[in-house]
Amino acid sequence: MSILSAHGIAFDLTVPVIIIGAGAAGLVAALSAREAGQDVLVLERDAVPRGSTALSAGLIPAPGTRWQRAAGIVDSPESFARDIAAKASGEPDPLLLETVTEAIGPTLEWLADHHDLPFSVIENFRYPGHSVCRMHGLPTRSGTELVDRLREAADRAGVDLLCDARVTSLFAELDGRVAGIEVERPDGTKERIGCVMLILACNGYGGNKDLVQRHIPELGNALYFGHEGNQGDALLWGQVLRGATRHLSGHQGHGSVAHPHGILITWATITEGGFQVNLRGERFSDESHGYSEQAAVVLRQPEGLAWTIFDARIAGIARQFEDFRQAEALGAILTAETVEDLARQTNLPVDSLKVTFEDVDGLKLAGGLDHFGRNFAGAPPLQSPFHAVRVTGALFHTQGGLVVDGNARVMREDGTALPNLFAVGGAACGVSGSKAEGYLSGNGLLSAVALGRVAGLATARAGTMLDKIN
Ligand SMILES: Cc1cc2nc3c(=O)[nH]c(=O)nc-3n(C[C@H](O)[C@H](O)[C@H](O)COP(=O)(O)OP(=O)(O)OC[C@H]3O[C@@H](n4cnc5c(N)ncnc54)[C@H](O)[C@@H]3O)c2cc1C
Repeated sequence: MSILSAHGIAFDLTVPVIIIGAGAAGLVAALSAREAGQDVLVLERDAVPRGSTALSAGLIPAPGTRWQRAAGIVDSPESFARDIAAKASGEPDPLLLETVTEAIGPTLEWLADHHDLPFSVIENFRYPGHSVCRMHGLPTRSGTELVDRLREAADRAGVDLLCDARVTSLFAELDGRVAGIEVERPDGTKERIGCVMLILACNGYGGNKDLVQRHIPELGNALYFGHEGNQGDALLWGQVLRGATRHLSGHQGHGSVAHPHGILITWATITEGGFQVNLRGERFSDESHGYSEQAAVVLRQPEGLAWTIFDARIAGIARQFEDFRQAEALGAILTAETVEDLARQTNLPVDSLKVTFEDVDGLKLAGGLDHFGRNFAGAPPLQSPFHAVRVTGALFHTQGGLVVDGNARVMREDGTALPNLFAVGGAACGVSGSKAEGYLSGNGLLSAVALGRVAGLATARAGTMLDKIN
């Protein structure tokens, strides 16, 4: 990855808006810029757009939507912003918080009305830290459906998408204006394409071991569960161009990835009254805090493993997720009629597992906080048949990145914007602050979809200004 001088460079062609990366952020930016009348070229390193978006459950939090209203859920951008800020201990930039929480609801309705994405709101469980049910998803509740539908919409809208096109260099002027990019094709050929504006939508640095070890040492050796193509290109380019960066230690981890199957086990297994034990059959934490910070907690247990334990009622809720159904199909989810049989199948010490079950049942009946600080109030005791799945902790994606303003323009440390550079999704610093526990469920796609929308529309306004300057 490099930044080269634009001086004297001849480009094969020049387009108004180049977008690097065709995940949710890049495709929503492309649809929005196209709607605003811009010619857009999206460059994607893979043969088919997938990104971390396809690996996700595709769940996007949004307040005040018509789907919430139909379900009688009262919500607002202000209330959503308060939930995000509370989870991230007040660290997120208030302007960015306002921007994304205001933009996301109308963006989902626009995607439904104009681009055929049939969202619905999940009503049967609430993710930790959200004060109301506000997670929206497509029928399969999978990120593959999200990115596929966005790509189809982009095709229909006349967005030019070039796959197998890895951007290797940017060409920049001395003042930081990006004049164009160099793209490499799988056969090694290279092309230089000029642009008026550039949107970085190539996510964060989760796939770059060196950067993870430097910025998130506690997950330096953890399984990376996101898209391998996300190598931190946006961060590295932005830094050379003197863009400001923030919260580089912020990230989304997950403390319940089926091992060795490598499948995400929905956290509904925990929030609905399940719990985790280590290989000694003992609970080790307040699991209800959040799945992100639980990644490092699980990795600190013997062999970096735990068992997530729940029952048939909870499995019924979890089954709405494609990932969970897949885990069941692959035999990752064990089923047992008794605790003794569960201990036998999991190879956990039967006596300590029985004590743990009794403790949890007692806590559910008695109410109040346990000595880890978890409150099981409202959750019924687990009923036979029981389920268990062996899990580990993983890094899902990074949440720090380039600092952007309310139009998704990349900012310098002195508070001025770089001339024609935008960052969206995982390329930009998100709203999770600097710690794993700052991640509120859905913050990833929130930044991708909302900032994608904001940046795409802003290119039209910026384009008019740049036309006047040039
Ligand atoms: C297992 C998992 C589950 C998740 N579940 C959720 C969830 O339910 N809700 C939620 O909000 N978030 C979730 N997330 C996080 C969410 O997936 C991401 O925050 C979001 O997809 C980021 O979107 P993006 O468009 O920025 O990046 P991506 O979708 O990763 O797209 C970036 C694209 O850029 C391409 N690219 C990278 N470098 C280059 C280059 N040099 N040239 C050309 N192309 C390049 C990549 O190939 C990729 O296609 C999850 C993440 C994981 C891993």
